[in-house]
Amino acid sequence: MKIIYIDMDDTLCDFQGAFAKALNERPEMPYPQSQYRFFANLEPIAGAIETFKDMIRSDVYDPYILSAPSLKNAFSYSEKREWVETHIGYDFCDRLIICAHKGLLRGDILVDDKSSGMGQEDFEGQIIQFGSPRFPDWEFVRDALSL
Ligand SMILES: [Mg+2]
Repeated sequence: MKIIYIDMDDTLCDFQGAFAKALNERPEMPYPQSQYRFFANLEPIAGAIETFKDMIRSDVYDPYILSAPSLKNAFSYSEKREWVETHIGYDFCDRLIICAHKGLLRGDILVDDKSSGMGQEDFEGQIIQFGSPRFPDWEFVRDALSL
């Protein structure tokens, strides 16, 4: 089985969309992501949850969710867990890893919208950069993973 890590913000869930919406509503707010319920209320990105569930069902991939916390928002830890429980299910909460340095984890593939900044640059497996020209959405990621 291939161990595959999936990032949350802007990979599984729409961080940028919620960030832009919050700033539009309250331009004076410097850090929308520091607001209570910000992480719990993020919308899933199209195709992300179906793909995660297909990975679990497959006999090729062993998927985990790998997310760096928002250090200035302590609620991010519990709200990320809540998000996984709400959108993927309680049975998959043991697949959530919250870690500020993604390069510390062993695995084969990391699907992440960023290739550096949270230890991604030290990840020893393959990085599929979600949202890049090569992998603009989950359909392209699914194709690359033969899902
Ligand atoms: Mg991200």
